[in-house]
Amino acid sequence: MYLTQGLHRAVQQTPDAIATIYRDRHRTFTEIAGRVARLAGALRDHGVRDGDRVAMLSLNSDRYHEYLLAVPWANGVINPVNVRWSPAEIAYSLRDSGSRTLLVDDTFADTVPAVRAECPELTTVIHAGDGGTPEGMLPYEDLVTGSEPIEDARRGGNELAGLFYTGGTTGHPKGVMLSHSNLMVSAFGLAASGYLSAGEVRLLHAAPMFHLADLAFWNAATARGGTHVIVPAFKPVEVMEAIAEHEVTETLLVPVMIQILIDHPDIAEHDLSSLRAVMYGASPIPQAVLERAMKALPNASFTQAYGMTELSPVATLLSPDDHKVTELLRAAGRAAPHSEVRIVDTNDEEVPHGTVGEIVVRGGHVMQGYWNRPEETAAALRGGWMHTGDGGYLDDAGYLYVVDRIKDMIVTGGENVYSAEVENALATHPAVAACAVIGVPDPDWGERVHAVVVRQPGHEVTAGELREHVKTLIAGYKAPRTAEFVDALPVSGTGKILKRELRKRYWTGADRQVQ
Ligand code: ATP
Ligand code: MG
Repeated sequence: MYLTQGLHRAVQQTPDAIATIYRDRHRTFTEIAGRVARLAGALRDHGVRDGDRVAMLSLNSDRYHEYLLAVPWANGVINPVNVRWSPAEIAYSLRDSGSRTLLVDDTFADTVPAVRAECPELTTVIHAGDGGTPEGMLPYEDLVTGSEPIEDARRGGNELAGLFYTGGTTGHPKGVMLSHSNLMVSAFGLAASGYLSAGEVRLLHAAPMFHLADLAFWNAATARGGTHVIVPAFKPVEVMEAIAEHEVTETLLVPVMIQILIDHPDIAEHDLSSLRAVMYGASPIPQAVLERAMKALPNASFTQAYGMTELSPVATLLSPDDHKVTELLRAAGRAAPHSEVRIVDTNDEEVPHGTVGEIVVRGGHVMQGYWNRPEETAAALRGGWMHTGDGGYLDDAGYLYVVDRIKDMIVTGGENVYSAEVENALATHPAVAACAVIGVPDPDWGERVHAVVVRQPGHEVTAGELREHVKTLIAGYKAPRTAEFVDALPVSGTGKILKRELRKRYWTGADRQVQ
């Protein structure tokens, strides 16, 4: 199995059907296959050799679809770059991955000189833009129309398909090596779940395509010979127009995108009735938002995914039917068809249902390892299970409840406190706009529960008031003993709060050690 297989099958079966829609550009499967074969030829002409990493820094477009196919076609390894990273972070990931070729669009072309200054290994930059090609870059359209096409390498199985960087929430982003089989197992698992839209597939890419969450659904749709409807980035009106105009059947959104969409004043003006499946993940959705979303999109089923880059990325799915049971809305679902999930203690012994431990996962979707990090790979994959670093428990029916990242759990006076639970309680206070809960050193308690809070504009609140509020919702020992107020919380390139940054002031050394 290999990433380009779905394209070949679609060329055989529906050669003149539409593969990609981007603005006013519609391309058939035959056109895409020709462009991809020529782009792959150009990559080889410009020095890409077997197993070379090829980086891509670009907003969503039909060309992103072509990069994802042309790189494996040329027997290279795809290396999508997070578009929210700074030039220094981009250069770090290019150096770390050893990518010498970069595909860049108009939006990011200006970043290239700063990246090049820190990454002299970068020899070839291909400008996938519509304007003039900047000095020192190769024009994408000329390459895609004028190069000699090559045969697809058709390398698959356990060969490396892509290098994907983790979110960098708990440390430096790590390169995750995923093989063709890893990615295809995940795609087939998603399809086998039965939660994707049935029949003709028109998938909307509204979430960033560099992210593995969107890429997993890209791959599942490509394998099913579906049409990709692509918008450059998430903008609610553009998303609604694309759904209505192209009769989109399924899409992946993160919870905050769902919220923006359903709160939009113009939602009733757009016909969104074609949307049959909405997938979301990376974090659970507030129940009130979900209930409104289900009302706003009555034809759509909702599916939540829990996973991580190392799992290609899906481990569990909360099915559309599960969404009808209020108590299950706190769960992350049950093991996906391709995935096995267990909870273990610090000795890697399985714990009884209902007991919190580390979530571990096994299956053909588990990564090959971390790029150039053999020790971290061995630690993460010990005993044949991927150790997620997430704490959680399973109930008797096999539902997984994710409670916190293990690194973020707090031990105070011998009791475990899950920062996520305290944050949820704090967030219900009207004066709290955003918050993070961390453990800080305390002479009496070992660690003390401490809140870092961004206040809603125009609201005043004290640490004591917040503590009292939390105590009305959860056990007293979990309530923050202290709080500080800040203007903003530090977030990663994928928008997750960087608690290690917040902890730095309180702990000497890199970060606090977790037992
Ligand atoms: P790093 O590994 O570099 O610290 P990261 O873990 O944030 O970064 P990702 O692989 O993008 O990088 O994110 C996976 C993590 O996101 C999971 O380990 C989990 O903590 C969280 N997560 C993903 N899906 C869900 C979900 N449905 N519910 C709760 N948490 C989730
Ligand atoms: Mg992680």
